[in-house]
Amino acid sequence: MNKQKIISRSKKLDNVRYEVRGAVAEEAESMTARGEKIIKLNIGNPCPFGFNAPESIKASLDASYIRSQGYSVSRGIYEARQAAADYFLRKGIEGVTADDVYTGNGVSELILLTMRALLNDGDEMLVPSPDYPLWTAAVNLTGGKAVHYICDESSDWFPDIDDIKKRITSRTRGIILINPNNPTGAVYPKQVLSQITDVCRENGLIIFSDEIYDRLLMDGEKHVSIASLCPDIFTVTMNGLSKSHMIPGFRCGFMAVSGDKSGAGEYIKALNTLASMRLCSNVLAQSLIADTLGSASPDPLYLPGGRMYEQREFMYSALNSVPGIKAIKPRAAFYIFPKIDLGLYKRISDDELLALSLLRNEHVLIVHGTGFNINSPDHFRITYLPEIPVLEESVIRIKRELDRWK
Ligand code: PLP
Repeated sequence: MNKQKIISRSKKLDNVRYEVRGAVAEEAESMTARGEKIIKLNIGNPCPFGFNAPESIKASLDASYIRSQGYSVSRGIYEARQAAADYFLRKGIEGVTADDVYTGNGVSELILLTMRALLNDGDEMLVPSPDYPLWTAAVNLTGGKAVHYICDESSDWFPDIDDIKKRITSRTRGIILINPNNPTGAVYPKQVLSQITDVCRENGLIIFSDEIYDRLLMDGEKHVSIASLCPDIFTVTMNGLSKSHMIPGFRCGFMAVSGDKSGAGEYIKALNTLASMRLCSNVLAQSLIADTLGSASPDPLYLPGGRMYEQREFMYSALNSVPGIKAIKPRAAFYIFPKIDLGLYKRISDDELLALSLLRNEHVLIVHGTGFNINSPDHFRITYLPEIPVLEESVIRIKRELDRWK
């Protein structure tokens, strides 16, 4: 007789959510399997929209696949780590060497690894709201407590420094920054970053900076790595090739520890242990870092006339022309995070229901704003990766759906 009982899940997942690929996205998969056509604006995956990796990636793969068959050392092959270190040095982060760098199966793996190595039950991490929700999920999964600080829509979505200060307690270990930000597309100016370093200095906080979109900038924005402003603060800076080189499927991320490491010996040991427990990250993907990181990234796409720039322009004005919708202009990456006027669309009280209804009625898949850890149900995230005719059609359908919620 089979004595198996109900298989309960770990309680560690009580506060873990990842709505970007949650229930609404699952419903979209079922609809697709039934042959229905969906406009998928939910994830930052450039490849289905006709974007391909640069030629340099193909050449590098051909050259590396024979020597990439074995495991590598856990932190990553030397050439990849040195190239990543050089990249961080070029961004002004002092003193980074290959020994400070770890490769990962995407930044995603490194997010989990760094949080797991740090947090004890009840330790608090300051996480932006809105955030890329893997950060909140990783903090909570590893026993920590994600404490959200406001990124202020009325100030171009920049972090609210007073709000950060208010949320610091004796349990706060560090702060997470996503810069450029997903979902808002904000790029933080040096002056805002300096204010954050001041707060960290005063309160002994570690900084984790997710900079995966730092090469996808528009409007002449210059990206400043926060670690370049604080050689005295222990900082972990993350980056990867998923977005800049259009190869998210290859799972290629890397990170560097920098700043004052005098008190970080135990933490670095823990990073090394966890890195060795996953043996190594994908070696073929690692081999791309040295060959491509210094070379041209697809910047022209982000200049006037370039595809991403023009799609951003289109989506920004198309969404803002919908009554009751207001979007701040994103300056980087490929997302926009508009606000819905709940005074006009009075029937909206649950934004996930709105996303589901949009999917079922209009076959457009978005991610509802509360999936990015904001409190009110009055935002949604769209990626503007599709070409303009598809974006145009999707805005018509969004408007039609919103009319049902007045
Ligand atoms: N960080 C941010 C801000 C992201 O938006 C994403 C993916 O969308 C990731 C990290 C994860 O990227 P990957 O695991 O592909 O490197």
